[in-house]
Amino acid sequence: LLSLTDELTGLPNRRAFLRRLEDEVARVQRYGFPLSLALIDLDKFKEINDKYGHAGGDEVLRVYSKNILSIFRHHDLVARYGGEEFAVLLPNTESEGALRALNKVKNRCGETRWQSNGSVVSVPTFSAGLALYKPGETSTAFVERVDKALYRAKRLGRNRVEIDMTYQTEAEARTANQKGAEPT
Ligand code: GH3
Ligand code: MG
Ligand code: MG
Repeated sequence: LLSLTDELTGLPNRRAFLRRLEDEVARVQRYGFPLSLALIDLDKFKEINDKYGHAGGDEVLRVYSKNILSIFRHHDLVARYGGEEFAVLLPNTESEGALRALNKVKNRCGETRWQSNGSVVSVPTFSAGLALYKPGETSTAFVERVDKALYRAKRLGRNRVEIDMTYQTEAEARTANQKGAEPT
């Protein structure tokens, strides 16, 4: 029997995530609800391991899972996607709502501390890619767009969220245009 749970964090694992993604994509094809996906990768995590040991790194991953990524709604799926990478699937949510949630995550990160050998340590920042599902695309293509956006977030200096803009709903495009037209 193949496990669907990540041992370290207790979160759904990559396999569970990919299953749910298929389900949600099928649902969107049928009903046309918006579906957002974020990939979150912790910044400079190697430094955490170097400084606090592998056990320290593991503790940070647990703190992220339990104390930080717990801000998402019950029907969102938060999964451990890879080593220090998390995937969040947000059904019924457009990019703007997802971005708001990720900003909450960012705030929570800034407030969160953990203990290492009696000293109080802050958690690392994260970079994220975000995209809205484009009707008709495969789940693989969807994940790839998000992954590219994440890569861009890293390249642009980390500790930031990059949204893939190759697909937006009409409503989102309108808001973006209005914002662009506002005097600064
Ligand atoms: P970047 O900002 O570019 O993401 O830098 P990074 O150091 O986070 O990047 P990279 O992906 O190269 O390194 C991730 C590190 O995470 C490497 C690996 O040793 C560590 N790691 C992966 N899984 C685990 C785990 O389960 N526990 C611990 N402690 N470390 C892990
Ligand atoms: Mg990584
Ligand atoms: Mg990393």
